[in-house]
Amino acid sequence: MREPFPLPMPLHLPTLLYTCIAALVLSAGLMSLFGTRLKTYRGFWHWTTAQWLLALGLLLQTQHQDTPWLLPLSTLLLLQGPITVLVGLRRFYSRHGIDVPVIADGLVLALACTGWLAVWAGFASASLSVSAFMVGMIVLHFYAAALISRLREFKGSVALQALAILEVMVASLLGLRLGWAITSGGGWPGSLNSLSPDSVLLATSLLSVIPGLLMVYLGPLMSWERTEHALRAKHRKLRFLADMDVLTRVPNRRRFHELAALSVAATKPGASVVMMLDIDHFKHINDLHGHASGDEALRQVAHCVRKTLREQDVAGRLGGDEFSLVLPDTEATAAISLAARIVALLGERQAESSRTRVSLSFGIVQMNANETVDAALRRADQALYEAKRQGRSRAVVATGAEAQPVFSESRPLGLDGGSWSDAEAVGA
Ligand code: GH3
Ligand code: MG
Repeated sequence: MREPFPLPMPLHLPTLLYTCIAALVLSAGLMSLFGTRLKTYRGFWHWTTAQWLLALGLLLQTQHQDTPWLLPLSTLLLLQGPITVLVGLRRFYSRHGIDVPVIADGLVLALACTGWLAVWAGFASASLSVSAFMVGMIVLHFYAAALISRLREFKGSVALQALAILEVMVASLLGLRLGWAITSGGGWPGSLNSLSPDSVLLATSLLSVIPGLLMVYLGPLMSWERTEHALRAKHRKLRFLADMDVLTRVPNRRRFHELAALSVAATKPGASVVMMLDIDHFKHINDLHGHASGDEALRQVAHCVRKTLREQDVAGRLGGDEFSLVLPDTEATAAISLAARIVALLGERQAESSRTRVSLSFGIVQMNANETVDAALRRADQALYEAKRQGRSRAVVATGAEAQPVFSESRPLGLDGGSWSDAEAVGA
């Protein structure tokens, strides 16, 4: 009978077997050395153990002719491979675990083992026993592939995809070989006999250990994927913490200056508005309602600012209860309307919920050509001071030089700070 997959050069299976044992021992040794010297993720030792057991299983298979009871031991050691690797993966990805309970892995392995033992003990037929071994391996490898593909990380992990493909390939090749034996002319299981069950057993074993053996590459690759993923997440978090004001979730002073400089550089000179806003009598909000209510008021103001701005506008918290804005391609009159919209939105939100009513004062300047953001902020601060001086809850536009500011427009914004009128504040 012809071999189903004729090769250009015959393979010497015993040589392959010893090579494979050597490769497994080398891999398992390297993994063990690596694991004892460096910090590893959970699951790593399952893969290492699977490799040691597979190496032992193959080694015992070389001896079973002289010592028959070694065959069941070697078979069980080989059958555990796909499941031990799978349990390692479950532990490695424990946070997004597989929705099939781990007991199912044990049941599938137990089924494969008892099935093989029953056939081996019940029918003294080498070819039937090899067939049962092949069926067991096909089931285990397909099962492992199916569960690997259910991991949430599967889509994003090349290593997991490679492992699943390997498992499917091994199971498919074994299935093809078994199918060929069953359907070939000689009749199954005799067709396996005619090809020497021993060589089929060896070939099956060699093929079956490949996914376990390749964990020497895939395990560290998965660890690297995880480390890189964690590093990226940490980097994003650090960036957020370095750039954002955590309380109000707008850029902090440093980041605001970076973004403002970029925005001004990208806009026609003199076409940007710089605006500062400050909560009126904020100290008293803290004193009367407590620091937590003060924080909530800050969050509300920042929320209303964020909601009102266009995508190209830049906002930041300069510190305390003071926020700054850069509005590219904007006129000072449009900036007053924007201030009114911020105040209107704040009014709506405060009417809904808050017992801490706050009002806002704004200082607005149109940037001069070649003026720096810092210089414009100083002029806006003068306008803000003037808004406070004029009674608060208003927007004041400053024109002219910093040394001689002209407050060209002052618009009351309607929202008063609840109980925080000037008179009460002074009395407080
Ligand atoms: P004005 O109308 O003149 O602005 O009066 P004001 O009381 O608001 O005075 P000012 O703007 O100088 O007050 C800032 C206060 O903001 C001082 C500080 O107690 C308070 N503050 C600063 N940072 C925080 C914070 O993160 N949370 C809270 N709750 N309060 C803060
Ligand atoms: Mg204030």
